[in-house]
Amino acid sequence: MKKLIPVILLLMIVLTAVVLFTESDKNNDELTIVTTFYPPAEFASQITKEKFNVINITSGGVEPHDFEPSPQDIVKIRNADLFIINGNDLDHWAEELVEENKEINSINLSEYITSERGNDPHFWLDPVHAIDLVKAISERIIEIDKENEKLYIENTDKYIDVLNKLNQEFRVGLANCSQRKIVVSHDAFEYLGDRYDIEIINISGVTPEEEPSAMKLAEISDKVKEYNIKYIFYETLVSPNLANTIAQEAGAETLVLDPIEGLSNEDVKAGENYLSIMRNNLNNLKLAMNCE
Ligand SMILES: [Zn+2]
Repeated sequence: MKKLIPVILLLMIVLTAVVLFTESDKNNDELTIVTTFYPPAEFASQITKEKFNVINITSGGVEPHDFEPSPQDIVKIRNADLFIINGNDLDHWAEELVEENKEINSINLSEYITSERGNDPHFWLDPVHAIDLVKAISERIIEIDKENEKLYIENTDKYIDVLNKLNQEFRVGLANCSQRKIVVSHDAFEYLGDRYDIEIINISGVTPEEEPSAMKLAEISDKVKEYNIKYIFYETLVSPNLANTIAQEAGAETLVLDPIEGLSNEDVKAGENYLSIMRNNLNNLKLAMNCE
C-alpha cells in the first residue's frame, strides 16, 4: 500500500501532462477566444459566429466572483488569440495573470465603461453598457482576423440593434410602476438601477460571499414592510436561503433576478442566453415593481 501512493502520484502527473500537451497542440489552427465568465463569451459568439472557438472557463454553473483557474485553464488562455477579462475585481486572478504575462493578448472590458460607479464590475446588466462591450470586443476581433472584417461588422451591427431594442423594452416596461424599490441578493444591479430609475436594496455585498449580519437582515426586513415591497429577488447560482428568510419574516414572496454571472446547467439545457435572461429579468421586475 505504501508503494502504491507514489505510483498513483506519478500517474496523475503524467496524465496531467498529457492533457496539457493535447490542449496546447489542438488549438494551433483554429482561432480561439477565452473569457472569464458568460456574458463576454456570448457577445464574442454573436460577433464571430462559427469563425472563432469561444471558451468560457467558468461554464457549468460556476460563480465567477470566487473562481480560481486550473493549470488547464491557464494553458487555454496562453493558447488563445484573445483573452477577455471583465476587470473591476470580478476576475482579479485574470488581471494579475495578464499583468505578469504581457504576451497574452487580452482586453479588459472595464476600460471601455465610462460611469460613476467606481469599481462596480456588473456593467453588463445595463443593455446600454452591453453595447459598449460588444463594440470593444468587435474591434479587437477584427484586429485578429482582418480578412473577415465585413462579416464581423455585419454581425456586430445586428446584435447592437437587438441590444438597442432590449434597452427600449426596459425603458417602456419600467416607465410606469407604483414600486421603485427592489430587494436583491447581492450588489449586482446598481448599473441597471441607475439606467431605469430603480432603487436597489442589497442583501449581500458586491460579491455573493459577503454575507450580511443578523442586524442587517432585520433592517432589510423592516424596510420591506415599511415600503410595502411584495417580492424579494434571489439568484440562480447562489443559495436562496437569505432571500427566503427575509421573505418569510416580512410576508413577501420570492422571484428570480439573474445577474447573468453564469448560466446554470438548466439554463443551458433550456437554450437560455443573455437576451432571454434579460427579458425574463424584465418580466419579473415588472411584476415586483407593479408596472402598468
Ligand atoms: Zn456579482
